[in-house]
Amino acid sequence: LYNQVQDLKGSIRVYCRVRPFLPGQPSRFSTVANADNGVLTLITPSKNGKEGRKSFNYNQVFGPSATQEKVFSDMQPLIRSVLDGYNVCIFAYGQTGAGKTYTMSGPNNPTDETLGVNYRALSDLFSISEQRKDIIHYDISVQMLEIYNEQVRDLLVTDEIRNNSQNGLNVPDANLVPVASTSDVMHLMDLGFKNRAVSSTTMNDRSSRSHSCLTVHVKGKNLTSGTVLRGCMHLVDLAGSERVDKSEVVGDRLKEAQHINKSLSALGDVIASLAQKNAHVPYRNSKLTQLLQDALGGQAKTLMFVHISPESDALGETISTLKFAERVSTV
Ligand code: ADP
Ligand code: MG
Repeated sequence: LYNQVQDLKGSIRVYCRVRPFLPGQPSRFSTVANADNGVLTLITPSKNGKEGRKSFNYNQVFGPSATQEKVFSDMQPLIRSVLDGYNVCIFAYGQTGAGKTYTMSGPNNPTDETLGVNYRALSDLFSISEQRKDIIHYDISVQMLEIYNEQVRDLLVTDEIRNNSQNGLNVPDANLVPVASTSDVMHLMDLGFKNRAVSSTTMNDRSSRSHSCLTVHVKGKNLTSGTVLRGCMHLVDLAGSERVDKSEVVGDRLKEAQHINKSLSALGDVIASLAQKNAHVPYRNSKLTQLLQDALGGQAKTLMFVHISPESDALGETISTLKFAERVSTV
């Protein structure tokens, strides 16, 4: 395991997941010919009417039938390394409806089988910390933030949770809440989702136009040596990456679109320059990259998890998602 963890250090991994066709929708042609063994092959129409094929390589590719458990188990070594003091960033990227929230949190009212990465990750951290309890004492706490129009908002605000200002992020007053069980986590996630919904009075789906970030802070104290190590993991459900037609949107929608565009390209620039090991990394260009600066680059481990829709009318967005993935990839 140690070697595996060393391998992951400082590297950028790119995963891709293809959403299945959704029930109740007219069946349409799929753009995906193959999604397996790290290779995604798209069917692309060409000018002479013949079918073209284009393949993309990633560290991992999940087809439409991949289960939540399978997806999680591939991410598990990366996630567990936070207990050894590493910083980890996992981003869910893709157009609205491609399955980002499904991967990170699960569907609305998830069952045990459909629970998403964030819940499985915390549950795994709790069980490992239980296994190691005679050697290391772990304290685990979480934060939930939303970035909307370059403004950061704390999603864990309630009367019961006092504000304590000790945290590793550039948000001086965001609540950091200790958690000891999966039910604590469920409770906080519910609270975060409710707080996120509160502000959507004027917009029907704000969640697709803001980034949400669940941050897990881990402090491990070795009971014999007294050594303390700290790690933190950011699980980020990004705003929808779809291009908005500027001629069709005005006012607030145009402003939102411009902010999303700017922050997703800033994220792409940061990860691409880390992947190329550039000396200068442009963290300052967006709130998101500023916020995560300490957890991106250096010893940190980053996973860009791109999501695509299988429908042929999404092909344009699918290709721009895959181009983004290609740009940040080192494979
Ligand atoms: P996004 O967050 O990217 O906008 P969602 O995660 O909300 O997309 O997914 C859109 C819809 O597709 C939801 O109803 C979701 O439950 C469903 N969905 C997404 N991915 C899957 C999947 N892998 N298996 C089954 N249903 C999925
Ligand atoms: Mg979503």
